[in-house]
Amino acid sequence: MQLCQNCSKTIWPFLFAFFIAGVATTLTWLMLSYTSFDATLRVLCTAGVFVLAAGTLVHYMLACMRRYCRHASSNYAE
Ligand SMILES: [Zn+2]
Repeated sequence: MQLCQNCSKTIWPFLFAFFIAGVATTLTWLMLSYTSFDATLRVLCTAGVFVLAAGTLVHYMLACMRRYCRHASSNYAE
């Protein structure tokens, strides 16, 4: 994961990714609360969803930031 110096300093894409992941996690938690799974399984499922969603989103954000970086422009040739 290589980003230019300016891009690697930006934090909002990660906050955004974690916010979305948080919303997905909350919805999952609410849905799971209607099931008859025991508490441990529910926590595991919810944690799994959060890790999956946050991981995917952060990965996607990094890919986009690398692809559309408008900074120094010299370091990474396509
Ligand atoms: Zn950049």
